[in-house]
Amino acid sequence: MTPPEAHVGTGQRRGTLFVVSAPSGTGKTTVVKALIARVAGLEMSCSYTSRPPRPGERDGVDYHFVSRDRFEAMRETDEFLESAEVFGALYGTSAHETEQRLDEGLDLVLEIDVQGAGQVRALDRTAVRVFVLPPSPAVLEERLRSRSATDLTEAQLRQRLGVARREVEMMGDYDYVLINDTVDDCVNRLQCIVVAERARRGGGAAGEAIAQAFRDRTDE
Ligand code: 5GP
Repeated sequence: MTPPEAHVGTGQRRGTLFVVSAPSGTGKTTVVKALIARVAGLEMSCSYTSRPPRPGERDGVDYHFVSRDRFEAMRETDEFLESAEVFGALYGTSAHETEQRLDEGLDLVLEIDVQGAGQVRALDRTAVRVFVLPPSPAVLEERLRSRSATDLTEAQLRQRLGVARREVEMMGDYDYVLINDTVDDCVNRLQCIVVAERARRGGGAAGEAIAQAFRDRTDE
């Protein structure tokens, strides 16, 4: 991966990675989609997965759906920035796609699990990591149960609650922790983080464009 410092002083702003993790059932996909709809210059990364599509999911939009063999071959050839096995399926972020979009100056949200978040942070110390908590274990269970009518067996539900307990232990490794009590409030707070982090890095793409306009002037 290109070191973030390589772009310093070149007048070309490299995008920022925002890593968002949360226990399954917290509602992070809803929150992240709402964030993307509101914030310009911020896009969601499209992961690869070996799990089959759920009803309504589209290949190349929600995920790149590939066979387990194909996923493993891609991993062998180092095509992933990070990858992990989650609930029996493989998930990974394309190194090439990520690199290309960051180089274009886009900020990217990676909605990935705690294992992947650790790998990204080791590669890119400038990545901003956000952990989203459900309001309580009881609410998480309720949210998983309402989803499980169509989706999860009782055993899978128990497994997700166990994994959630271990994931919450990792929240100290993140830069920010948010509670998804209501979607709107959570999106507002996540937007504040993006705005603050952009301001901390030279005002984002807009700040860089203004600085460049000053460099281009020949007043003196
Ligand atoms: P789901 O199958 O419900 O969409 O996602 C299951 C879990 O896999 C979620 O915790 C989600 O954040 C995680 N996940 C999705 N894409 C990736 C990825 O590219 N890398 C990693 N490490 N985890 C991912």
